[in-house]
Amino acid sequence: MPYPYDAPASAELFARAQGVTPGGVNSPVRAFRAVGGTPRFMREGRGPWLTDADGRSYVDLVCSWGPMILGHAHPAVVAAVQEAVSRGTSFGTPTEDEVLLAEEIVARVEPVEQVRLVSSGTEATMSAVRLARGFTQRPKVVKFAGHYHGHVDALLASAGSGALTFSLPDTPGVTGASAADTVVLPYNDVEALEAAFRENPDSIACVITEAAAANMGVVPPLPGFTEALRRTTAEHGALLVSDEVMTGFRVSRSGWYGLEGVRPDLMTFGKVMGGGFPAAAFGGRADVMAMLAPAGPVYQAGTLAGNPVATAAGYAQLRHCTDDVYAHVDTTAAQVADLASAALSAEGVAHRVQRAGSLFSVFFADAEVRDYDAARAQEAYRYQAFFHSMLADGVYLPPSAFEAWFVSSTHDDEALSRVADALPRAARAAAAATPDTAGAHPEQPTET
Ligand SMILES: *Cc1c(COP(=O)(O)O)cnc(C)c1O
Repeated sequence: MPYPYDAPASAELFARAQGVTPGGVNSPVRAFRAVGGTPRFMREGRGPWLTDADGRSYVDLVCSWGPMILGHAHPAVVAAVQEAVSRGTSFGTPTEDEVLLAEEIVARVEPVEQVRLVSSGTEATMSAVRLARGFTQRPKVVKFAGHYHGHVDALLASAGSGALTFSLPDTPGVTGASAADTVVLPYNDVEALEAAFRENPDSIACVITEAAAANMGVVPPLPGFTEALRRTTAEHGALLVSDEVMTGFRVSRSGWYGLEGVRPDLMTFGKVMGGGFPAAAFGGRADVMAMLAPAGPVYQAGTLAGNPVATAAGYAQLRHCTDDVYAHVDTTAAQVADLASAALSAEGVAHRVQRAGSLFSVFFADAEVRDYDAARAQEAYRYQAFFHSMLADGVYLPPSAFEAWFVSSTHDDEALSRVADALPRAARAAAAATPDTAGAHPEQPTET
């Protein structure tokens, strides 16, 4: 497929990167394999704008995959980081910043009575699953197809058709043994869930779920589904682990919990709470968290866990995530979603915009997407054409049809008008796309 223009500085950096790093990137989706073309190497971010190595500006609708809810280089976050750095960057001791951040999380998210800070969302889910197994003394974990919980071995198993299929790992390097205790179920299917508990009596430690799925495109839980997870796990003595790494502190002050109000046993956080630094967390019921070392026997640790610079950034960011910020992000997300939908409708392109709070994505499909099979069945080749047209016109969308779009409190009228101006041409490109115009870029919906 012809790409609308070159990006010579990015192309040169990408060539160098490929010489020293597998695929030229440090996280797969950044390589643009799902859309083709040259990944843009960014050198600066201000508010809603990114500037690439060639000096071109883009409205950023990725926001670092969620963390940049206050926009890039927010003055209060930058000041907090500068102040923290000036006092030293890591001590290997407890610090006050960790207490402040933990208190802020506990104050915002009512089911979190105790919280442990870690450095990535992957670590948070890995540790939550270990803790659930240690607490219940049971081996199995239930997850849903298409849900991404980081690259934890046991949670990378996401394929597997039908209920009760013991999953095969999706990736070489994960042994059958580490995936053998993972049960993968179709999302939004209460019957499959109940059947899994019948078929695995007294052996399921926990059900882990994305609070609202947003790593296969945005697929919120159907009404009643989260309640069914709560009811079924409680009936069978298993824990409910709500993965809010994406939704936490983004879709409301207290994340998806704040919108739906169903109380999990454990929750995981990351992205927004780090303010753009590596900080993440898991927390929940005090009796469960009490099993964690050094209070209890379940081991978990981290040299840079609760790092003073990361916690200062995260705390400053959360303190500035006010009701006004959430209101602005909600309104702006709805505006962008409506603009995109109107442009695609004008060109007669079948699509569904799906939302979960302020998270949204566009599926090139003509019916509501409720699970992974439906998500994968969309006409992703249309997204490729749509994406490159937007990119050429200065809008940076997620480089995959299977990722959420994000906005920040700094996305203003100027940013929105850039998006609005770019959409009609992108919608025409999507309409004209055929499976043959797409490059051969095998899609991996779960990679971030
Ligand atoms: C991003 C994400 C993770 C993984 O977090 P990392 O910080 O990338 O390890 C886990 N769960 C969900 C729902 C996510 O969106």
